[in-house]
Amino acid sequence: MPKVVITDAEFSDISWEREFFAQHGVELLFPNSFVVEDVLPLLIDADAIVTNRCPITRQVIEQLRRCRVIVRYGVGVDNVDVETATEKGIIVCNVPDYSTDDVATHAVALLLCCWRKIHFGDAALKRGEWQRYTSIAPVYRTVGKTVGLFGFGRIGKRVSELLYPFGFKIIAYDPYLTEEEFLLHGAERVGFEDLLSRSDAISLHAPLTDETRGVFNREAFARMKRGVVFVNTARGGLVDEEALLWALDEGIVAAAGLDVFVNEPNPNPRLVQNPKVIATPHWAWYSEEAMWDLRRKVAEQVVQALKGERPTYAINWEDLVCR
Ligand code: NAD
Repeated sequence: MPKVVITDAEFSDISWEREFFAQHGVELLFPNSFVVEDVLPLLIDADAIVTNRCPITRQVIEQLRRCRVIVRYGVGVDNVDVETATEKGIIVCNVPDYSTDDVATHAVALLLCCWRKIHFGDAALKRGEWQRYTSIAPVYRTVGKTVGLFGFGRIGKRVSELLYPFGFKIIAYDPYLTEEEFLLHGAERVGFEDLLSRSDAISLHAPLTDETRGVFNREAFARMKRGVVFVNTARGGLVDEEALLWALDEGIVAAAGLDVFVNEPNPNPRLVQNPKVIATPHWAWYSEEAMWDLRRKVAEQVVQALKGERPTYAINWEDLVCR
């Protein structure tokens, strides 16, 4: 009987997965840990691996004896060494579309909350202080102001659509898209420098790669408009968090909305406790609809791969076929 190991998941009740895999003649093991050392003994003889946060590194992959597929519970595969998996002939899958609407909604919610400085008023009232509006001045109308999107894929495009009724002008930086894609989705294509210097709010929607790691560093923040709103629902690693703290202190960033952090699940306390920051614990993906879409698509892809079929979202399929 083939064996699938789900290393870790955002949910602890996996009875649905248990039933699904049993129906397909697959044994399921669920150590529920993202610590590699805890799960490695089980992975070595697994036919399929499903990971949420557990890093499936080169070191891990090189020890796998039977694995045919690694599926990530989510969009980003930055915790899977795709190159090594491909070298070993292992299919890597993600689920790129389960939470596009949800992350976009969350990003817009954080952006508008920061724009209106809602969290400043909420915190003051909770302290028993009835502050005058002057404590948050200046706040401007959204009409005619500019939102800059770093990454203009599925989520970036949806954010652009959602922001449209507020009258924002949308500019976007994404070096991998054609001019038409920007035009088609109502955004002006700009370079990175323009994104930094022209935006009244910046929202991140690019994956974490060698190219994007730490791009929002001190130099980048120094080039932004004074009073900019900064939102990150992509990956914490895109941002140098010390640089963001500096920009908040300097008043360059007036307010930041963060769902993702360099250190998860132990984010930098100076960041999450900063009064100018509104933070959520990597929840942007979540809605009931998204969660069930994700669970179903992950389980289906494991079964597709074990049957020798092409999984719906195999990201290295062409590389494997061309080997
Ligand atoms: P996507 O692949 O559809 O879009 C990503 C876009 O980023 C692509 O258009 C790509 O060309 C662009 N990009 C790549 N490198 C870039 C660079 N150097 N500079 C600028 N743009 C670059 O992915 P998506 O569905 O829009 O998701 C975006 C990111 O959101 C994911 O990679 C993931 O890390 C994050 N995410 C977070 C959550 C959450 O719960 N917070 C949930 C889902 C996804």
